[in-house]
Amino acid sequence: MSEARYDFDLLVIGAGSGGVRAARMSAAQGVKVGIIEDRYWGGTCVNVGCVPKKLYSYAAHFAEDFKDAQGYGWQIPGEPTLDWPKLRDRRAAEIQRLNQVYNQLLDNSGVTRIHGRGQLQGPHSVMVGEATYTAERILIATGSWPYVPEFPGSEHCLTSNEIFDLAQFPKRFLVYGGGYIAVEFASIFNGLGAETTLIYRGDKILRGFDEEVRTFVQSEIREQGIHCLTGREILRIDQDRGALAVTLNDGRTVHVDAVLSATGRRGNVDGLGLEKVGLSTNAAGEIPIDANYCTKVPSIYALGDVTGGPQLTPVALAEAMTLVHNLYSEEDNRVLDYANIPTAVFCHPNIGTVGMSEETARKACKKIRVYSTSFRPMRNTLADNPGRCLMKLIVDDASDKVVGCHVVGPDAGEIVQGIGIAVKAGLTKADFDATIGIHPTSAEELVTLRTVTRN
Ligand code: NDP
Repeated sequence: MSEARYDFDLLVIGAGSGGVRAARMSAAQGVKVGIIEDRYWGGTCVNVGCVPKKLYSYAAHFAEDFKDAQGYGWQIPGEPTLDWPKLRDRRAAEIQRLNQVYNQLLDNSGVTRIHGRGQLQGPHSVMVGEATYTAERILIATGSWPYVPEFPGSEHCLTSNEIFDLAQFPKRFLVYGGGYIAVEFASIFNGLGAETTLIYRGDKILRGFDEEVRTFVQSEIREQGIHCLTGREILRIDQDRGALAVTLNDGRTVHVDAVLSATGRRGNVDGLGLEKVGLSTNAAGEIPIDANYCTKVPSIYALGDVTGGPQLTPVALAEAMTLVHNLYSEEDNRVLDYANIPTAVFCHPNIGTVGMSEETARKACKKIRVYSTSFRPMRNTLADNPGRCLMKLIVDDASDKVVGCHVVGPDAGEIVQGIGIAVKAGLTKADFDATIGIHPTSAEELVTLRTVTRN
């Protein structure tokens, strides 16, 4: 397939979720592929994102499990203590193992790995160090990078790039932000034993999620001991006798050992050389693309976080598969459907959600039916654990279709992955009602909800 005048048919910049998938899938079709990466083979997800975060989230959950176990008759001699260096180093070793797996996958599929920072030189050429590589097509899959707002002392903030490898466990921990990363890490550090404060500028965390879910989660994480201070911003951070003094706009100063800024991620385009090929980004640093992931330079494509869609690994994977199909298959082009993407937030309790929030559905549908219930999961009864869960379905009254499902509670992500298929398939409330529950589970509520909570 390769035209002799180029080194590669496809040259991918960035070996994250989207880049690796595109490279491997293309190579499997006989395409000559090179992939360039300077830092994280496997990308953010594997190295400093989803995977290590989930490992730490498991670690944090044990705190609750140790407590709960005693309600079930287990005697735990002494107070369980966390060996942070052990957790940190075992996580690092596991990530290293996964890096090797990624590299092997690439090597086995015949992709040429190029180590270094790729810089565009022209529509068909990329420079890496001293070398220049040419390709018929170039794919930018450089992902995103943490954004930290500027204020005096903001350089003391850690980001999700550094948080996994702290030399010492912070006894007092502060998170700035109210999105995915903020609530997940507030739960993780709280569970691992840090006195945890979350500072959010809005009045309720998790903007964009269903309001009832937001209210519920905010109350649950407060119940678990996180100092969740809303309607506040950080004015400055000063070093103060080995600690950090964080001054808020309400006049209060909080002393902590570490601050995590979880204030969003922007397209990772620094030093990429976009200007050399006449490309530019929008204000959020994202590269504009058309429906087939093509930039305005016909030989240069982009996908994943750097293009500003939903910043989720499975979305980047799906985009990569769609693009590879459209570029290299004889079949008709595919268009990725971005509707009803299920997602989870691994705070404690977990959130799993698919489809519309109640607020969005009220605007999109003429009339809706909301079925909502909150209860203490059975596991928490003997444990004397006050933690509650929330199950919610939103139904378009005219079609009876379930247009939204929101779960907060243990394994919410696992539950909603299944329900996501039903919502994506456009199943109706009658279909849900006709499904026999699995007893005793929390998720059976989703097929036994019969009373409309509100219209
Ligand atoms: P989010 O966009 O989810 O949240 C950013 C938060 O920072 C918001 O609460 C926002 O407030 C706040 N913020 C933004 N700018 C400022 C500012 N200048 N000053 C103060 N606060 C500010 O980003 P995250 O960093 O949490 O995560 C990035 C993305 O990564 C997520 O959107 C998600 O797509 C992905 N991700 C997915 C995960 C998963 O699937 N489980 C886990 C982690 C990340 P406001 O709401 O007012 O704008």
